[in-house]
Amino acid sequence: MFKKILVANRGEIALRIQRACRELGIKAVMVYSEADRDAKYVKLADEAVCIGPAPSPLSYLNMPAIISAAEVTDAEAIHPGYGFLSENADFAERVEKSGFTFIGPTPENIRTMGDKVSAKQAMIKAGVPCVPGSDGELPDDPALIKRIAKAIGYPVIIKASGGGGGRGMRVVHTEAALINAVQMTKAEAAAAFGNPAVYMEKYLQNPRHVEIQVLADTYKNAIYLGERDCSMQRRHQKVIEEAPAPGIPRRLIEKIGERCVAACKKIGYRGAGTFEFLYENGEFYFIEMNTRVQVEHPISELITGVDIVRTQIMIAAGEKLPYTQRQIEFKGHAIECRVNAEDPYKFIPSPGRITMWHAPGGPGVRVDSHVYNNYFVPPNYDSMIGKIIAYGDTREQAIARMRTALLETVVEGINTNIPLHQDLMVDAKFIEGGTNIHYLEEWLTHRNTNKR
Ligand code: ADP
Repeated sequence: MFKKILVANRGEIALRIQRACRELGIKAVMVYSEADRDAKYVKLADEAVCIGPAPSPLSYLNMPAIISAAEVTDAEAIHPGYGFLSENADFAERVEKSGFTFIGPTPENIRTMGDKVSAKQAMIKAGVPCVPGSDGELPDDPALIKRIAKAIGYPVIIKASGGGGGRGMRVVHTEAALINAVQMTKAEAAAAFGNPAVYMEKYLQNPRHVEIQVLADTYKNAIYLGERDCSMQRRHQKVIEEAPAPGIPRRLIEKIGERCVAACKKIGYRGAGTFEFLYENGEFYFIEMNTRVQVEHPISELITGVDIVRTQIMIAAGEKLPYTQRQIEFKGHAIECRVNAEDPYKFIPSPGRITMWHAPGGPGVRVDSHVYNNYFVPPNYDSMIGKIIAYGDTREQAIARMRTALLETVVEGINTNIPLHQDLMVDAKFIEGGTNIHYLEEWLTHRNTNKR
């Protein structure tokens, strides 16, 4: 096992990884930007290194600074968390070339999965069902593009191969709008992702977002830890996640879970990963794979009892997966609310000083957050200040515990989206379960119209 790991991230996930290291008796080196100097997990760290000023290109995305920090502290491995450099194949490669272990998949796997066209092709080969679409990148020939769209059937969605974070996508309903949409998406993709390649998929009208968590070791063992329903989204950003996904038959989950495990073995995947699917009319359609730990990993931990971050570290240290699929039991229901520093209905970021923080507690309540009384939320990074996770024997119990947890939470000095979560936890359709990816946006529009 490692003696020392460098945590190349910030905020709640940096603290989450620090906790896993402590549990394993590993020293954690925390890196921080000038904006995060006062964070408690930095102050309480075994060691901490400042890697640059607040803007992330100068700190959390600064590869030489992070690798130097690992060198000067004698760390053996680097955990990238999520976001920042976690899915950057060049970084993974540089980490390994500098003699450190990258806690994640191989650079080749990250590269293949980071490009959506090559990811889809790899998945088709591995027998994972995908959204019907173009055979790889779209050609330049307008007549051919029209033919492809006609064969798929409108509406279609044009997606950037290098896209991410919900950007680089355009829905097209008619042939008249097609060529212009392709050209615009290409131009945007070239500017935003440095790669003009785009592809086409059938636009599914009312799907749910359901994803499968996997863990694989370097000995070709792989397991899945069930599914997560992340359909409650705003602007393609997840707001609430839950596991299991309400109303989806277990045999369908088992079938798709086994496909994901087979795909991991086929591509030689190692570490934690997530296969993201759209789910409509009883069918799963692969959209992308995330080659890292996800924000919403705690809900899978709660229903399986598996510590995903700890297992990531064990796998990277060359240990065998400590569980077989048969040992994984799914029990109870878990819900996660992402707490953002923002106006709950205008969605304007609300950084600043938290003058009062009180975290909820009690049976089945877990809070993953790095904030505390008098913590200053810097304006430089994303607005998530933590996650409230509720577990229960049943979905009803998890919702009831979440309502109490949200009621108990006190955040003063800044705005948060807790009022939004409170409203959603009493919404009849959410309580019924199984809402699709458009539900939250429609709910917000409806709410705003009624308020006027
Ligand atoms: P990103 O990498 O930017 O997150 P994804 O491919 O994961 O992009 O898609 C993000 C979201 O966009 C999905 O969760 C879904 O809401 C929507 N989406 C993507 N592809 C389709 C599709 N073929 N049909 C309908 N919605 C889609």
